[in-house]
Amino acid sequence: MSEKKETKKKIPTDYRKAEIDLRLKEMEQRERQDNKWLELENKRLDWEMARHVEDKEDQKQLYGLIAKALDGPVADLTRNLGSAVAKRLEINTPSKEIGTVKIKCLNCLKYFPIIVGQPMVVCPYCEAISKLDC
Ligand SMILES: [Zn+2]
Repeated sequence: MSEKKETKKKIPTDYRKAEIDLRLKEMEQRERQDNKWLELENKRLDWEMARHVEDKEDQKQLYGLIAKALDGPVADLTRNLGSAVAKRLEINTPSKEIGTVKIKCLNCLKYFPIIVGQPMVVCPYCEAISKLDC
């Protein structure tokens, strides 16, 4: 306790220098912590992206399994029902209720109804924009 005071009295310049050194060290440490935080944050983002991709793979597998389980013309139809096919089906089939058709989102692979004639639609599940080919 008293040691500090004595040092200060005896050699004030050294004490100040020590204090500055300490401050510098603190700053350095903080900077290093920031870097570490950034590094962790980057790792976290990498991990989340990897997980996101895995989720998508899982979904693909799930839909693949469903398609296999349903196996048959209907399953084939729905599985291959991209927006272009959907549009063509709608054109080829004169339908009484004008123009909703179900399309599959290419991003989340869920089906949702759209109104025919729109150049593009937004998936209500994942908000991915799908362009409709005419
Ligand atoms: Zn979607």
